[in-house]
Amino acid sequence: MSGKSVPKPESLKPTARRVVLKSGATLLLSLLPVRFANAAQIASVRVWPANDYTRVTLETDSKLKSSHFLVTDPNRLVVEIEGVDLDAKLKSLVAKVQPNDPYIAQVRVGQNRPGVVRMVFDLKAEIQPQVFTLAPVGSYRHRLVFDLYPAHPVDPIAELLKRTRPAPLSETPTTDTLANPPTAKNDTTSEEPLAVTRMITIALDPGHGGEDPGAVGRGGNFEKNVVLAIAQRLKSRLELQPNTRVMLTRDGDYFVPLHVRVQKARKVQADLFVSIHADAFIEPTARGSSVFALSEKGASSTAARWLANKENAADLIGGINISSKNQQLASVLLDLSTTAQINDSLKLAKHVLGEIGSINRLHKPQVEQAGFAVLKAPDVPSILVETAFISNPEEEAKLTDERYQDQMADALARGIRKYLQKHPSLNRGRMT
Ligand SMILES: [Zn+2]
Repeated sequence: MSGKSVPKPESLKPTARRVVLKSGATLLLSLLPVRFANAAQIASVRVWPANDYTRVTLETDSKLKSSHFLVTDPNRLVVEIEGVDLDAKLKSLVAKVQPNDPYIAQVRVGQNRPGVVRMVFDLKAEIQPQVFTLAPVGSYRHRLVFDLYPAHPVDPIAELLKRTRPAPLSETPTTDTLANPPTAKNDTTSEEPLAVTRMITIALDPGHGGEDPGAVGRGGNFEKNVVLAIAQRLKSRLELQPNTRVMLTRDGDYFVPLHVRVQKARKVQADLFVSIHADAFIEPTARGSSVFALSEKGASSTAARWLANKENAADLIGGINISSKNQQLASVLLDLSTTAQINDSLKLAKHVLGEIGSINRLHKPQVEQAGFAVLKAPDVPSILVETAFISNPEEEAKLTDERYQDQMADALARGIRKYLQKHPSLNRGRMT
């Protein structure tokens, strides 16, 4: 999509304005010097820059109406918001745009007319905006969200290849090895470089991000930050393994919808998917690590069902555009999970749980199962790890401790490695 001149939205047309003036000219004039009578109060303005997309959120005490259009030469996104007056919070948006924002060069904010604020985003690239409102949820009030997606998104496979360290020549997979997938002989190859090589692609999924902090500890630490730190440590460990490449579903502080996490793993044809979280409960004494797989027929316990519901609510907090066509794709995808995928996931989960048991108390001694949306890639063994309870002050301290993050990353890496060694036939060879 190029930013051809888009028809002006109704509210900008002179006719629409004239109607307003006719019906309430006296009232409008009397209000001109003062604040717009029903102006919404801006509670907060947030910017979440990321390569995937940059999000701008306006949080207000009442629902905002907006219209927007794109302008080219140079690329700009013009937004008009009705029912607000320019205030210090809105003005703060200007300073909140970082110089390294991938999509926004700068933003200009001004009072266009009484009760209407105009924002002009000067863009660094051609974008496809998604503008939508979110009803109050959790601790959030009304939100007006601008998601600035690139018009030409980066191909995830090309990006992954670009970032993959080239393997030594002797280990470079050939067409031959791909035509003859490794046999059970690999069971005995242990930690040695694999005799028959193929790339293993691992998708790591740090939960939450951006608007969705995940669980919050009593000490004020966010789940989204500790799980990203653990995922990054795990990534660097796994990449030390020959012929292994790792894709993070997010590598910064921004929200990734649950179905997009699944799509990302499938796009890079991941051999396995590990979603990393930190648990929370009302009672601060709840503690220990857990590992989950998908269930076909209901959750393995009430607690597991409760937790899956909580994690599945991430999209509500993080905020997704429900009118986006991706949603239909997502609902189709989510019904395709198979018994085979769940069986493979359970194997992976057992190896990982066993290793975590050597570094932290386990919340439950066995792998649990529930309907986590993020585990529903039909063709990728997928597990969700609750690394510890961030709601437990002692475990919150652990989760923010780099040594514990390292230990957790080590344990996860050992579990993943053992699974790959014990079940090589489950892993499909991949073209580099
Ligand atoms: Zn979580």
